[in-house]
Amino acid sequence: MGRRCGWGRTGFALIEILLVIVIIGLLVGGYYGLMGGDGDEGEKKSVPARSIEKAKSVECASNLNQCRQLIQMYVIENGQYPKEFNPGEQGSLGRCPVSGKPYVYDPETGKIHCTTPGHEGL
Ligand SMILES: [Zn+2]
Repeated sequence: MGRRCGWGRTGFALIEILLVIVIIGLLVGGYYGLMGGDGDEGEKKSVPARSIEKAKSVECASNLNQCRQLIQMYVIENGQYPKEFNPGEQGSLGRCPVSGKPYVYDPETGKIHCTTPGHEGL
């Protein structure tokens, strides 16, 4: 550290400042992540919870697709929509992985959908 070069010192200080900024960023990010679920707004969720929910909604869409394939296979074999299709009897395939509610099947249209809020369009 015996160098008298001012730029060298400034460079070192810049790295220190950057480190502090990164650490503050991590602390702030962690704070929001931890506090997100306990805020006044009930809808706020921490980042990990949100990504788990996202992954589960993908699983829900996949379940729905498999149920639709079962219905489609029935239609190919019988030429009509199944009059009764109880998604609750399909085990984990027939229910939403987020809410655990069984899917709703409409024999009139042959459509099946999830009743969990936000999953209507899946
Ligand atoms: Zn769902």
